Amino acid sequence: MTKGSKLYSILTFKCPHCHEGKFFVNHPYHLPTTGETLSECPVCSQSYSPEPGFYFGAMYVSYALGVALFVTIWASCNWFFDNVSVWLQIGLIIGSSILLGPLLYASSKIIWANFFIHYSKDAKHGKKEATHT
Ligand SMILES: [Zn+2]
Repeated sequence: MTKGSKLYSILTFKCPHCHEGKFFVNHPYHLPTTGETLSECPVCSQSYSPEPGFYFGAMYVSYALGVALFVTIWASCNWFFDNVSVWLQIGLIIGSSILLGPLLYASSKIIWANFFIHYSKDAKHGKKEATHT
């Protein structure tokens, strides 16, 4: 996967603007800081919160990811196995929602940020020029 695609930023948790700086304070499974973003990119200085309440919209993405997880588990249970009980399916869905919760939460925030912040090949150089002036 190459820099320049939004998928690169999302899967590597890198800055949506320069694809080099960290996006999150810590790993999603570091529970005290789950999904907590830095205030700006350490490499290109792109603000990660362009306006107050910016990440409220990420709940729509989170909802979509949750539905995708639900459908994937439900379809897998019914296509690949015979006679999986409803309670086992519900248990699998609840269990995987809890286990993947921090990852889905963090993913929803960086996907949301990628809707509005776009990649720029010169993002890093822009900062260097700005600091010299
Ligand atoms: Zn950056």
